[in-house]
Amino acid sequence: MTMTNQKPFIAGNWKLFLTSSEAVELVSTLQEINHEFEEAQMVVIPPFTALCDVHITLQGSSIQIGGQNVYWEEQGAYTGEISALMLKDVGCTYVIIGHSERRQYFGETNATVKKRIKAALSHDLTPIFCIGESLEEREKGETIHKVQTQISEGLEGFNEDTVQKIIIAYEPIWAIGTGLTATPEQAQEVHGFIRNELSEKYGNETGSCAIILYGGSVKPANTFSLLKEKDINGALVGGASLKAESFIEIAKEAIKAYKEK
Ligand code: PEP
Repeated sequence: MTMTNQKPFIAGNWKLFLTSSEAVELVSTLQEINHEFEEAQMVVIPPFTALCDVHITLQGSSIQIGGQNVYWEEQGAYTGEISALMLKDVGCTYVIIGHSERRQYFGETNATVKKRIKAALSHDLTPIFCIGESLEEREKGETIHKVQTQISEGLEGFNEDTVQKIIIAYEPIWAIGTGLTATPEQAQEVHGFIRNELSEKYGNETGSCAIILYGGSVKPANTFSLLKEKDINGALVGGASLKAESFIEIAKEAIKAYKEK
């Protein structure tokens, strides 16, 4: 199965924000004006505690839901963890894996990322696999090497069919939550590399159909120029997805950019 990228893909990562009632209020607002961004594939990624209520609120909507992380075992004595089966059960179709905050604060490695991706896919959850370099790595000219290693270790042993089910999010760590954004040229350079790498390792179809998102201080004002770039298929949005107004504006800008590509 290959994914298509006819529509821009806009995912909102709500991180450790919003109670269940606040999350429901936010998705209710999005839902009401859903027609304004029908030409984008919208995904909301609330904290675990809000998933069930958000799922109920979004019944029948085209807005989809994702989890922020997943454990690789299905069930067992793993206090505090959430499995792919459980995410599926509350309506998730996507899951973020390997976000830099998980790598930085919770010891996530490329090896554990790989296990989580496998677990997600075994329950038909689409992984949003996050990769990206730190400021120090960028300054030392190690960006491409870093991203290449994350791809080769995170996807190690996967075949073409499996890789075609994965969304990649390039998120330079220095741009996440900092207000700094990669320029469209900087982002395109890495996105182009990722697409080539996927083509070389998993065939041209895999590379050309891959959905590759950009993340890192995406806001309404920079969405158009980023999404106009050839290899940028959407955005993983943190802070600006917590307010309906800015999230919707981002979706509209993305739709505009896609029309002009
Ligand atoms: C993120 O959480 O993945 C992210 C990119 O955050 P922000 O948009 O706030 O930089």
